[in-house]
Amino acid sequence: MTRIDDLPIRGELRGKSPYGAPQLDVPVQLNTNENPYALPEPLVARIAERVAEAARGLNRYPDRDAVELREGLAAYLTGTTGYEVTRRQVWAANGSNEVIQQLLQTFGGPGRTAIGFEPSYSMHALISRSTGTDWISGPRNEDFTIDVEAARRAVAELRPDVVFVCSPNNPTGTAVERDTVLALYEAAQEARAATGGALVVVDEAYVEFSHRPSLLPLLEGRPNLVVSRTMSKAFGAAGLRLGYLAADPAVVDAVQLVRLPYHLSAVTQATALAALEHTATLLGYVEQLKAERDKLVAELTAIGCEVTESDANFVQFGLFKDSHAAWQALLDRGVLVRDNGVPGRLRVTAGTPEENRAFLEAVREIIKEHS
Ligand code: PMP
Repeated sequence: MTRIDDLPIRGELRGKSPYGAPQLDVPVQLNTNENPYALPEPLVARIAERVAEAARGLNRYPDRDAVELREGLAAYLTGTTGYEVTRRQVWAANGSNEVIQQLLQTFGGPGRTAIGFEPSYSMHALISRSTGTDWISGPRNEDFTIDVEAARRAVAELRPDVVFVCSPNNPTGTAVERDTVLALYEAAQEARAATGGALVVVDEAYVEFSHRPSLLPLLEGRPNLVVSRTMSKAFGAAGLRLGYLAADPAVVDAVQLVRLPYHLSAVTQATALAALEHTATLLGYVEQLKAERDKLVAELTAIGCEVTESDANFVQFGLFKDSHAAWQALLDRGVLVRDNGVPGRLRVTAGTPEENRAFLEAVREIIKEHS
């Protein structure tokens, strides 16, 4: 049997495993930060209508520039943050992973470097590597906040071309201070002044769940800043695969150099537009989930867990002697959470009240033996 490593693949991919959380069929699945609520039926009906309309034109390529969708996303950002964003500042792709990939293809690549402050979203490192961009793992404090001085020093010394700041951060749930992003932006521009500065990407995949406002207004006067977003979490549409960014129009023009023509199908564009029509209902679910998340933090603390403050739709908790053994013990009770490799800790996504109750019950059962 031929194995991957028998093939003439690129050297840096040898011995690597593909990214992916286990997709196991267990009663309580709280491992991938999905929204537990199915889309409301009126939205499902509207999607069917919009997709039928799109289907009548599927003999043609889709709108390559996704103009109507970008218009809608810009209106959503403006409406929810109070900071005016225009269509020319917005770009969309198949999930924010693809947005990040396009950014790295444009601003990273062979001979260039990207930095992130770990533990953080592991795809930042993986997409960096797969685009030939060298990855630098930057530091974090014990409480998982970013150590501004250490981060600034790392940026000044290592002069990365791309800086990732994930806020709220996955897997820890911690939001990043506005001043931290400003300090990193300035340090990155200074360090790479000779080459026109460095791109700073603020990954706001979970920002709708945050206690704090979006960092989107920081785009003002900062052409090398990008905010990335997704419909996978707050919009409850992980299956749709729709991510987007907001930045200076020049950044949007720059990613055109690497995007595949017609990358966003007409079906995807139609579905995302339907979802945007139901923003108010979907943001209502977000409010429920925020309350459930806060409850999870309180209850896990009451059980005796060490819990990281969360601004996302998930909570990092511990401390376990062996987090993988604790993960398995929860799985044995029908509850799937995530082991992100952070020593002693696991991550649980806020689910429905019933799912959260089942999860907390399972934690109560295993806590003594595993902490
Ligand atoms: N950024 C962060 C921080 C994430 O956690 C995720 C999903 N787990 C993504 C981006 C990618 O999401 P998607 O590709 O579904 O938009």
